[in-house]
Amino acid sequence: LPEEFIKAQPIIDTIEAAGYEAYYVGGSVRDTLLNLPIHDVDIATSAYPEEVKSLFKRTVDTGIEHGTVMILDHGTGYETTTFRTESGYQDYRRPDSVKFVRSLKEDLNRRDFTINALALKTDGTIIDYFDGLGDLKKHRIRAVGDPEKRFNEDALRMMRAVRFASQLNFDIDADTVAGIEHHGRLLTKIAVERIHVEFVKMLLGNWPAKGLDVFMNTGLYQYCPDFEPYKDQFNQLRSQLTRGMSNETAVWTLLAAVFELSSKQVNQLLKDWKSANQLIDDVQVAVKAFHAITTQTVDAWTLYQTGHDLIAIANEVAGQLGSATYQTADLLAQYDALQIHSKKALTITGQDLMAAGIKPGPQLGQALNYLERQVVEGQLNNQEADLLTAAINYLNEKA
Ligand code: ATP
Ligand code: MG
Repeated sequence: LPEEFIKAQPIIDTIEAAGYEAYYVGGSVRDTLLNLPIHDVDIATSAYPEEVKSLFKRTVDTGIEHGTVMILDHGTGYETTTFRTESGYQDYRRPDSVKFVRSLKEDLNRRDFTINALALKTDGTIIDYFDGLGDLKKHRIRAVGDPEKRFNEDALRMMRAVRFASQLNFDIDADTVAGIEHHGRLLTKIAVERIHVEFVKMLLGNWPAKGLDVFMNTGLYQYCPDFEPYKDQFNQLRSQLTRGMSNETAVWTLLAAVFELSSKQVNQLLKDWKSANQLIDDVQVAVKAFHAITTQTVDAWTLYQTGHDLIAIANEVAGQLGSATYQTADLLAQYDALQIHSKKALTITGQDLMAAGIKPGPQLGQALNYLERQVVEGQLNNQEADLLTAAINYLNEKA
């Protein structure tokens, strides 16, 4: 077993010693069987949340109403969730009520896909009620139980299916695909934030075309915010994308480029997808740089305004779309060679200008902006005396 499981074993041992069952479940079990690295270790147990809490000194109620308690152990947190069933689903998302149960099988039965419904014991035994091991071997994503019913219960599962296809290079079972075809519209009932997470994970996956195939063929894309008009562009992407994007900013920059969005449209798209303001700002800058890079008008000032990380992203997008004319390393070398990388790096400040007799006010700020641009463009050396002279000349000419 991977060291993450070995480290977590005392937690399971403690729960078992108190007379309950406990297993590793979810993504970490699936990824271990696929020889992939694992991130968080999730534990499922027959103990009720209060029972779990009574067994450990340090716990946090991270989702106690759903049965989840985080156990803190030597700086690591382990999410421990009581076996549960779900019922209701009146609104095609989140169950109306969860019921804690003592049976592992009932818990695994509520999980989305067979490959996610495996449990692992500390001795290495796998519990597999739905032939998840068979599906892992066949590289197949298959709903637990009747896909029609499962997508009707929780429409987010359709997005999860396509993102696992893209992350794992798996096919989606035919009945499960049919379920997506029939229930795509229910995606509109799901909180955009949750769709957002799965959509981005799909394009970060190593085999994005794999997920995009089903996303397009089933029509699922139409039920995502603002995507409906971009069928052709998505199909173009599906044939062009040969690997996953490196981060979320790159994902949205790619879409803005392929959809040929104006800056206003980029803003609207990202707002509709409930994106953080920082992401919106970064994508705007990266899209601008993408256009400069792909039309070969990239200059020192554009590189400076874009910054190191977004230059790399803009050129990554250009590369994915087959329109890169520069090597990323060359662009970054040009950027690194700039005399300054922020206004603060000027050898002169507003204070210095005032000390030299320039009056405070708007023209002081304008002078600093002028110096910044001249230094970035290499017209001036970033040296105090040179900058002071240039600032005075600039203000005299303006006056
Ligand atoms: P990742 O590696 O991305 O974390 P994961 O499979 O662990 O993948 P999570 O979202 O962390 O995905 O969920 C943990 C487990 O909870 C899943 O493996 C699955 O068993 C179950 N699960 C999560 N979301 C759903 C859902 N919408 N419906 C049913 N079961 C779900
Ligand atoms: Mg997980």
